Amino acid sequence: MTKHITCVTCPMGCGITVELNDSNEIVSITGNTCKRGEVYARNEVTNPQRSLATTVKVNGGIHNVVPCKSAGPLPKNKIFDCMAEINNANAKAPIKIGDVLVENVCGTGVNIVATNHCPAK
Ligand code: SF4
Repeated sequence: MTKHITCVTCPMGCGITVELNDSNEIVSITGNTCKRGEVYARNEVTNPQRSLATTVKVNGGIHNVVPCKSAGPLPKNKIFDCMAEINNANAKAPIKIGDVLVENVCGTGVNIVATNHCPAK
């Protein structure tokens, strides 16, 4: 099987081709300009991950929501479950940048942290 992916590690956006055998093992990686592209392609094929940026509802704050992000990459196949857990979460004002709003989201070991302040009313 052949997979075509675009490396998003830097703005060059190299097109990378990954050849897999019948056991889904990587046989070759071509098209990357540097080693980082090979690492990206290998991860993208074997263990794709995504960072998440969204908002969490706030109780008692001057705003109803606060922006947040995952403190690290999340498994791509858990993104929708993570969003559901984040959508059900409520944070209590006051909130500072870096506060953990959802701990260990979906058991991934990754926290969801505030990326802005939200003072109390
Ligand atoms: S392969 Fe290297 S040069 Fe190409 S986009 Fe990825 S990081 Fe950038």
